[in-house]
Amino acid sequence: MTIQDIRIRQIFDSRGDKTLEIVLYDAGGREFTAQIPSGKGRGEEEVQSFDYEKAEDVLLNILKKEIVGKDLPSVMELDKALIALDGTPSKEKIGGNVMLGISIAFARALAFQEKKQLWEIFRGEFFSGIAEEKKPLIFSNFINGGVHARNNLDIQEYLVVVDPKDSLVDSIHRLSVLYKNLGTFLEQRDNVNNPPIGDESGYSVDFPNNFEPLNVLGEFITEFHLENEVLIGLDAAASGFYKDGKYVFESNTFSNEDLLSLYVDYYRRSKFLYSIEDPFDPEDGESFRKLLGELRDKLVVGDDLTTTHPDSIEKYATMEAVNSVIIKPNQIGTVSEACQAMKIARERKVKTIVSHRSGETEDNFIIHLAKAGGADGVKIGVPVHERIFKFNELIRVYED
Ligand code: PEP
Ligand code: MG
Repeated sequence: MTIQDIRIRQIFDSRGDKTLEIVLYDAGGREFTAQIPSGKGRGEEEVQSFDYEKAEDVLLNILKKEIVGKDLPSVMELDKALIALDGTPSKEKIGGNVMLGISIAFARALAFQEKKQLWEIFRGEFFSGIAEEKKPLIFSNFINGGVHARNNLDIQEYLVVVDPKDSLVDSIHRLSVLYKNLGTFLEQRDNVNNPPIGDESGYSVDFPNNFEPLNVLGEFITEFHLENEVLIGLDAAASGFYKDGKYVFESNTFSNEDLLSLYVDYYRRSKFLYSIEDPFDPEDGESFRKLLGELRDKLVVGDDLTTTHPDSIEKYATMEAVNSVIIKPNQIGTVSEACQAMKIARERKVKTIVSHRSGETEDNFIIHLAKAGGADGVKIGVPVHERIFKFNELIRVYED
Protein backbone atom coordinates (compact mmCIF):
# COMPACT_ATOMS: atom_id res chain seq x y z
CA MET A 1 0.00 0.00 0.00
CA THR A 2 1.34 3.38 -0.92
CA ILE A 3 1.19 6.20 1.60
CA GLN A 4 0.24 9.17 -0.53
CA ASP A 5 0.57 11.74 2.23
CA ILE A 6 0.55 12.24 6.01
CA ARG A 7 -0.83 15.12 8.03
CA ILE A 8 -0.83 15.79 11.75
CA ARG A 9 -3.72 17.45 13.56
CA GLN A 10 -3.80 18.85 17.05
CA ILE A 11 -6.77 17.51 19.00
CA PHE A 12 -7.70 17.26 22.69
CA ASP A 13 -7.86 14.26 24.98
CA SER A 14 -10.49 13.54 27.65
CA ARG A 15 -8.60 15.67 30.18
CA GLY A 16 -8.63 18.65 27.82
CA ASP A 17 -4.91 18.34 27.11
CA LYS A 18 -3.50 18.60 23.61
CA THR A 19 -2.73 15.40 21.78
CA LEU A 20 -2.16 14.30 18.19
CA GLU A 21 -4.25 12.82 15.42
CA ILE A 22 -2.33 11.31 12.54
CA VAL A 23 -4.02 11.53 9.16
CA LEU A 24 -2.80 9.21 6.45
CA TYR A 25 -3.89 9.35 2.79
CA ASP A 26 -3.89 6.33 0.49
CA ALA A 27 -3.32 6.47 -3.26
CA GLY A 28 -7.03 7.14 -3.78
CA GLY A 29 -6.82 10.21 -1.54
CA ARG A 30 -8.87 8.52 1.19
CA GLU A 31 -8.20 9.66 4.75
CA PHE A 32 -7.40 7.23 7.59
CA THR A 33 -6.84 8.56 11.09
CA ALA A 34 -5.46 7.50 14.46
CA GLN A 35 -5.77 9.47 17.69
CA ILE A 36 -3.15 8.92 20.37
CA PRO A 37 -4.05 9.01 24.09
CA SER A 38 -1.80 10.35 26.83
CA GLY A 39 -0.96 9.03 30.28
CA LYS A 40 -0.34 10.95 33.46
CA GLY A 41 1.33 8.13 35.36
CA ARG A 42 4.00 7.61 32.71
CA GLY A 43 6.41 4.75 33.41
CA GLU A 44 10.06 5.79 33.24
CA GLU A 45 10.78 3.41 30.38
CA GLU A 46 7.95 4.72 28.19
CA VAL A 47 8.99 5.98 24.77
CA GLN A 48 9.02 9.69 23.97
CA SER A 49 5.80 11.51 23.20
CA PHE A 50 6.16 14.57 20.92
CA ASP A 51 4.13 17.76 20.99
CA TYR A 52 2.64 19.19 17.80
CA GLU A 53 5.61 21.41 16.92
CA LYS A 54 8.13 18.57 17.25
CA ALA A 55 5.83 16.20 15.38
CA GLU A 56 5.43 18.70 12.51
CA ASP A 57 9.18 19.02 12.34
CA VAL A 58 9.55 15.24 12.08
CA LEU A 59 6.86 15.14 9.41
CA LEU A 60 8.59 17.74 7.30
CA ASN A 61 12.16 16.60 7.73
CA ILE A 62 11.91 12.82 8.02
CA LEU A 63 8.53 11.34 7.17
CA LYS A 64 7.77 13.30 4.00
CA LYS A 65 11.16 12.27 2.64
CA GLU A 66 11.40 8.68 3.85
CA ILE A 67 7.89 7.30 4.26
CA VAL A 68 5.52 9.27 2.05
CA GLY A 69 5.37 7.79 -1.46
CA LYS A 70 6.74 4.41 -0.28
CA ASP A 71 4.91 1.24 -1.15
CA LEU A 72 4.78 -0.88 2.00
CA PRO A 73 3.15 -4.30 2.04
CA SER A 74 2.34 -4.64 5.75
CA VAL A 75 2.20 -2.97 9.17
CA MET A 76 5.25 -5.00 10.08
CA GLU A 77 7.28 -3.57 7.17
CA LEU A 78 6.13 -0.03 7.91
CA ASP A 79 7.08 -0.39 11.58
CA LYS A 80 10.47 -1.85 10.65
CA ALA A 81 11.12 1.18 8.44
CA LEU A 82 10.02 3.60 11.18
CA ILE A 83 12.11 1.85 13.84
CA ALA A 84 15.18 1.90 11.57
CA LEU A 85 14.67 5.59 10.77
CA ASP A 86 14.34 6.45 14.43
CA GLY A 87 17.20 4.22 15.58
CA THR A 88 16.87 4.95 19.32
CA PRO A 89 15.44 2.76 22.12
CA SER A 90 13.18 5.52 23.43
CA LYS A 91 12.03 6.74 20.01
CA GLU A 92 13.49 10.16 20.54
CA LYS A 93 14.00 10.99 16.88
CA ILE A 94 10.47 10.42 15.55
CA GLY A 95 8.44 10.22 18.78
CA GLY A 96 6.55 7.11 19.93
CA ASN A 97 3.16 8.80 19.58
CA VAL A 98 3.87 9.85 15.98
CA MET A 99 5.12 6.38 15.07
CA LEU A 100 2.17 4.62 16.68
CA GLY A 101 -0.31 6.95 14.98
CA ILE A 102 1.17 6.23 11.56
CA SER A 103 1.24 2.52 12.31
CA ILE A 104 -2.48 2.43 13.31
CA ALA A 105 -3.68 4.71 10.50
CA PHE A 106 -1.76 2.58 7.99
CA ALA A 107 -3.40 -0.59 9.38
CA ARG A 108 -6.80 1.09 8.91
CA ALA A 109 -5.94 1.84 5.30
CA LEU A 110 -4.89 -1.79 4.77
CA ALA A 111 -8.13 -3.00 6.36
CA PHE A 112 -10.08 -0.81 3.96
CA GLN A 113 -8.11 -2.05 0.98
CA GLU A 114 -8.45 -5.69 1.97
CA LYS A 115 -12.10 -5.29 3.07
CA LYS A 116 -11.24 -6.58 6.53
CA GLN A 117 -11.84 -5.49 10.09
CA LEU A 118 -8.88 -3.80 11.77
CA TRP A 119 -8.44 -6.72 14.17
CA GLU A 120 -8.23 -9.13 11.25
CA ILE A 121 -5.23 -7.23 9.90
CA PHE A 122 -3.46 -7.58 13.26
CA ARG A 123 -4.48 -11.22 13.66
CA GLY A 124 -3.19 -12.05 10.16
CA GLU A 125 0.15 -10.29 10.56
CA PHE A 126 1.02 -10.96 14.18
CA PHE A 127 -1.18 -13.62 15.76
CA SER A 128 -1.85 -16.21 13.07
CA GLY A 129 -1.67 -19.02 15.63
CA ILE A 130 -4.58 -17.67 17.68
CA ALA A 131 -8.00 -19.03 16.89
CA GLU A 132 -9.84 -18.55 20.16
CA GLU A 133 -12.71 -16.11 20.47
CA LYS A 134 -12.86 -15.77 24.24
CA LYS A 135 -14.25 -12.53 25.57
CA PRO A 136 -11.89 -10.59 27.82
CA LEU A 137 -12.50 -9.72 31.46
CA ILE A 138 -13.48 -6.05 31.71
CA PHE A 139 -11.54 -3.99 34.26
CA SER A 140 -13.70 -0.95 35.01
CA ASN A 141 -12.30 1.85 37.13
CA PHE A 142 -15.07 2.89 39.60
CA ILE A 143 -13.05 4.90 42.14
CA ASN A 144 -10.12 7.13 41.17
CA GLY A 145 -7.29 8.15 43.48
CA GLY A 146 -3.57 8.95 43.30
CA VAL A 147 -2.52 11.32 40.50
CA HIS A 148 -5.86 10.77 38.69
CA ALA A 149 -7.98 12.41 41.39
CA ARG A 150 -8.21 15.22 43.90
CA ASN A 151 -9.03 13.09 46.92
CA ASN A 152 -7.14 11.46 49.78
CA LEU A 153 -6.62 7.98 48.27
CA ASP A 154 -3.03 6.89 47.63
CA ILE A 155 -4.18 3.94 45.52
CA GLN A 156 -4.88 5.16 41.99
CA GLU A 157 -7.66 2.81 40.87
CA TYR A 158 -10.38 0.60 42.35
CA LEU A 159 -11.70 -1.52 39.52
CA VAL A 160 -14.73 -3.72 39.21
CA VAL A 161 -13.77 -6.77 37.16
CA VAL A 162 -16.53 -8.50 35.27
CA ASP A 163 -16.35 -11.74 33.31
CA PRO A 164 -18.67 -11.39 30.31
CA LYS A 165 -19.02 -15.15 29.86
CA ASP A 166 -22.34 -14.97 28.06
CA SER A 167 -23.35 -11.49 27.01
CA LEU A 168 -21.18 -8.40 26.83
CA VAL A 169 -24.24 -6.18 26.75
CA ASP A 170 -25.56 -7.69 30.00
CA SER A 171 -22.16 -7.43 31.69
CA ILE A 172 -21.68 -3.82 30.65
CA HIS A 173 -25.21 -3.06 31.80
CA ARG A 174 -24.40 -4.56 35.18
CA LEU A 175 -21.32 -2.36 35.42
CA SER A 176 -23.38 0.66 34.52
CA VAL A 177 -26.04 -0.10 37.16
CA LEU A 178 -23.38 -0.69 39.82
CA TYR A 179 -21.59 2.55 38.90
CA LYS A 180 -24.77 4.62 39.10
CA ASN A 181 -25.77 3.03 42.41
CA LEU A 182 -22.35 3.74 43.82
CA GLY A 183 -22.89 7.37 42.78
CA THR A 184 -26.22 7.49 44.64
CA PHE A 185 -24.64 5.90 47.70
CA LEU A 186 -21.82 8.47 47.71
CA GLU A 187 -24.29 11.32 47.17
CA GLN A 188 -26.15 10.28 50.31
CA ARG A 189 -23.01 9.50 52.29
CA ASP A 190 -21.43 12.89 51.53
CA ASN A 191 -24.65 14.88 51.19
CA VAL A 192 -23.66 16.18 47.74
CA ASN A 193 -25.54 16.33 44.46
CA ASN A 194 -22.96 14.90 42.12
CA PRO A 195 -19.90 13.25 43.62
CA PRO A 196 -16.73 14.53 41.91
CA ILE A 197 -15.10 12.28 39.34
CA GLY A 198 -11.43 11.78 38.44
CA ASP A 199 -9.49 11.55 35.18
CA GLU A 200 -11.10 8.26 34.16
CA SER A 201 -14.63 9.20 35.34
CA GLY A 202 -14.45 7.02 38.47
CA TYR A 203 -15.65 8.71 41.66
CA SER A 204 -13.03 10.85 43.28
CA VAL A 205 -14.19 11.28 46.88
CA ASP A 206 -12.40 10.92 50.20
CA PHE A 207 -12.46 7.70 52.22
CA PRO A 208 -11.37 7.06 55.82
CA ASN A 209 -8.50 4.93 54.48
CA ASN A 210 -7.34 3.10 51.34
CA PHE A 211 -9.09 -0.13 52.32
CA GLU A 212 -12.57 1.34 52.75
CA PRO A 213 -13.41 1.48 48.98
CA LEU A 214 -12.88 -2.31 48.92
CA ASN A 215 -15.48 -2.65 51.69
CA VAL A 216 -17.94 -0.42 49.89
CA LEU A 217 -17.53 -2.22 46.54
CA GLY A 218 -17.71 -5.61 48.30
CA GLU A 219 -21.02 -4.66 49.91
CA PHE A 220 -22.41 -3.62 46.53
CA ILE A 221 -21.36 -6.92 44.97
CA THR A 222 -23.15 -8.81 47.72
CA GLU A 223 -26.25 -6.61 47.65
CA PHE A 224 -26.59 -7.08 43.88
CA HIS A 225 -25.93 -10.85 44.11
CA LEU A 226 -22.97 -10.61 41.75
CA GLU A 227 -20.64 -12.81 43.81
CA ASN A 228 -20.17 -15.24 40.93
CA GLU A 229 -19.57 -12.69 38.21
CA VAL A 230 -17.71 -9.75 39.62
CA LEU A 231 -14.38 -9.29 41.35
CA ILE A 232 -12.28 -6.28 42.39
CA GLY A 233 -8.94 -5.06 41.09
CA LEU A 234 -6.54 -2.38 42.29
CA ASP A 235 -3.98 -0.29 40.48
CA ALA A 236 -1.76 0.96 43.29
CA ALA A 237 0.47 2.84 40.77
CA ALA A 238 2.93 2.78 43.66
CA SER A 239 5.55 4.98 41.97
CA GLY A 240 3.12 7.81 42.79
CA PHE A 241 3.81 7.40 46.52
CA TYR A 242 7.41 6.13 46.35
CA LYS A 243 10.05 8.50 47.65
CA ASP A 244 13.74 7.86 48.34
CA GLY A 245 13.36 4.10 48.62
CA LYS A 246 10.26 4.24 50.88
CA TYR A 247 6.52 4.36 50.36
CA VAL A 248 4.62 7.29 51.84
CA PHE A 249 1.19 5.77 52.33
CA GLU A 250 -1.65 7.24 54.41
CA SER A 251 0.89 9.80 55.63
CA ASN A 252 3.12 7.08 57.12
CA THR A 253 6.45 5.82 55.84
CA PHE A 254 6.35 2.18 54.77
CA SER A 255 9.22 -0.12 53.84
CA ASN A 256 8.57 -2.53 50.96
CA GLU A 257 8.07 -5.30 53.54
CA ASP A 258 5.45 -3.21 55.39
CA LEU A 259 3.60 -2.51 52.15
CA LEU A 260 3.70 -6.17 51.17
CA SER A 261 2.13 -7.12 54.54
CA LEU A 262 -0.53 -4.46 54.03
CA TYR A 263 -1.48 -5.88 50.62
CA VAL A 264 -1.61 -9.44 51.98
CA ASP A 265 -3.88 -8.15 54.73
CA TYR A 266 -6.12 -6.47 52.10
CA TYR A 267 -6.50 -9.83 50.36
CA ARG A 268 -7.34 -11.51 53.67
CA ARG A 269 -10.01 -8.93 54.44
CA SER A 270 -11.61 -8.65 50.97
CA LYS A 271 -12.73 -11.94 49.47
CA PHE A 272 -13.42 -10.20 46.15
CA LEU A 273 -9.96 -8.72 45.69
CA TYR A 274 -8.47 -10.43 42.62
CA SER A 275 -5.78 -8.30 40.98
CA ILE A 276 -3.20 -5.72 41.95
CA GLU A 277 -1.31 -3.64 39.40
CA ASP A 278 2.00 -1.91 40.12
CA PRO A 279 1.92 -2.71 43.87
CA PHE A 280 5.50 -1.40 44.12
CA ASP A 281 7.75 1.04 42.30
CA PRO A 282 9.46 -0.28 39.14
CA GLU A 283 12.79 -0.03 41.00
CA ASP A 284 11.47 -2.66 43.37
CA GLY A 285 10.90 -5.71 41.12
CA GLU A 286 11.99 -8.04 43.91
CA SER A 287 8.96 -6.99 45.98
CA PHE A 288 6.66 -7.89 43.07
CA ARG A 289 8.23 -11.35 43.13
CA LYS A 290 7.68 -11.75 46.86
CA LEU A 291 4.06 -10.62 46.59
CA LEU A 292 3.34 -13.02 43.74
CA GLY A 293 4.85 -15.77 45.89
CA GLU A 294 2.14 -14.99 48.50
CA LEU A 295 -0.73 -14.63 46.03
CA ARG A 296 -0.37 -17.45 43.50
CA ASP A 297 -4.04 -17.61 42.49
CA LYS A 298 -4.42 -13.81 42.13
CA LEU A 299 -3.12 -11.44 39.48
CA VAL A 300 0.01 -9.40 40.13
CA VAL A 301 0.09 -7.03 37.18
CA GLY A 302 2.95 -5.02 35.69
CA ASP A 303 2.28 -1.65 34.07
CA ASP A 304 4.90 0.98 34.95
CA LEU A 305 7.12 -2.03 35.70
CA THR A 306 6.94 -3.53 32.21
CA THR A 307 5.82 -0.58 29.99
CA THR A 308 4.66 -2.90 27.16
CA HIS A 309 8.31 -3.61 26.43
CA PRO A 310 8.91 -7.16 25.13
CA ASP A 311 12.30 -7.38 26.91
CA SER A 312 10.89 -6.19 30.24
CA ILE A 313 8.00 -8.62 30.03
CA GLU A 314 10.46 -11.41 29.33
CA LYS A 315 12.64 -10.31 32.27
CA TYR A 316 9.87 -10.04 34.86
CA ALA A 317 8.11 -13.19 33.67
CA THR A 318 11.37 -15.14 34.07
CA MET A 319 11.86 -13.65 37.51
CA GLU A 320 8.24 -14.64 38.40
CA ALA A 321 7.56 -11.07 39.46
CA VAL A 322 4.28 -10.79 37.52
CA ASN A 323 1.69 -13.19 36.14
CA SER A 324 -0.13 -10.50 34.19
CA VAL A 325 0.81 -7.37 32.23
CA ILE A 326 -0.85 -4.21 31.01
CA ILE A 327 -0.50 -3.59 27.28
CA LYS A 328 -0.55 0.12 26.40
CA PRO A 329 0.65 0.53 22.81
CA ASN A 330 1.75 4.13 23.29
CA GLN A 331 4.19 3.04 25.99
CA ILE A 332 6.22 1.26 23.29
CA GLY A 333 5.33 3.24 20.16
CA THR A 334 4.47 0.81 17.34
CA VAL A 335 1.76 -1.76 16.67
CA SER A 336 4.41 -4.43 15.90
CA GLU A 337 6.16 -4.05 19.24
CA ALA A 338 2.88 -3.99 21.18
CA CYS A 339 1.92 -7.23 19.42
CA GLN A 340 5.35 -8.68 20.15
CA ALA A 341 4.85 -7.78 23.83
CA MET A 342 1.53 -9.66 23.82
CA LYS A 343 3.09 -12.65 22.09
CA ILE A 344 5.92 -12.91 24.60
CA ALA A 345 3.47 -12.64 27.47
CA ARG A 346 1.34 -15.45 26.00
CA GLU A 347 4.37 -17.67 25.50
CA ARG A 348 5.32 -17.11 29.14
CA LYS A 349 1.72 -17.78 30.32
CA VAL A 350 1.49 -14.21 31.55
CA LYS A 351 -2.01 -12.77 31.16
CA THR A 352 -2.48 -9.69 28.99
CA ILE A 353 -4.76 -6.75 29.81
CA VAL A 354 -5.00 -4.24 26.97
CA SER A 355 -5.47 -0.79 28.47
CA HIS A 356 -6.58 2.76 27.77
CA ARG A 357 -4.69 5.79 29.16
CA SER A 358 -5.98 8.34 31.64
CA GLY A 359 -6.15 10.97 28.87
CA GLU A 360 -8.23 9.19 26.24
CA THR A 361 -9.62 9.88 22.76
CA GLU A 362 -12.45 8.35 20.72
CA ASP A 363 -9.98 5.99 19.05
CA ASN A 364 -11.00 2.33 19.44
CA PHE A 365 -7.88 0.66 18.14
CA ILE A 366 -7.09 -1.02 21.49
CA ILE A 367 -10.27 -3.09 21.30
CA HIS A 368 -9.14 -4.50 17.96
CA LEU A 369 -5.70 -5.21 19.37
CA ALA A 370 -7.29 -7.09 22.28
CA LYS A 371 -9.40 -9.24 19.98
CA ALA A 372 -6.54 -9.97 17.56
CA GLY A 373 -4.15 -11.01 20.31
CA GLY A 374 -6.67 -12.98 22.40
CA ALA A 375 -6.24 -10.64 25.38
CA ASP A 376 -7.33 -11.92 28.78
CA GLY A 377 -8.65 -8.52 29.83
CA VAL A 378 -9.38 -4.98 28.72
CA LYS A 379 -9.06 -2.01 31.04
CA ILE A 380 -11.27 0.71 29.59
CA GLY A 381 -12.75 2.79 32.40
CA VAL A 382 -16.45 3.07 33.28
CA PRO A 383 -19.22 2.76 30.69
CA VAL A 384 -20.15 6.45 30.68
CA HIS A 385 -18.92 9.73 29.22
CA GLU A 386 -15.96 9.59 26.83
CA ARG A 387 -15.06 5.96 27.69
CA ILE A 388 -18.36 4.67 26.26
CA PHE A 389 -16.83 4.46 22.75
CA LYS A 390 -14.57 1.62 23.86
CA PHE A 391 -17.45 -0.33 25.43
CA ASN A 392 -19.59 -0.01 22.32
CA GLU A 393 -16.69 -1.09 20.11
CA LEU A 394 -16.16 -4.09 22.40
CA ILE A 395 -19.72 -5.20 21.67
CA ARG A 396 -19.30 -4.65 17.93
CA VAL A 397 -15.94 -6.39 17.66
CA TYR A 398 -16.66 -9.39 19.89
CA GLU A 399 -20.35 -10.00 19.31
CA ASP A 400 -20.99 -9.22 15.65
C1 PEP B 1 -2.65 3.29 34.51
O1 PEP B 1 -1.78 3.62 35.33
O2 PEP B 1 -2.90 2.10 34.35
C2 PEP B 1 -3.33 4.31 33.70
C3 PEP B 1 -4.28 3.99 32.83
O3 PEP B 1 -2.97 5.61 33.89
P1 PEP B 1 -2.02 6.49 32.96
O4 PEP B 1 -2.62 6.48 31.60
O5 PEP B 1 -2.07 7.84 33.62
O6 PEP B 1 -0.69 5.84 32.99
MG1 MG C 1 -1.39 1.39 35.84
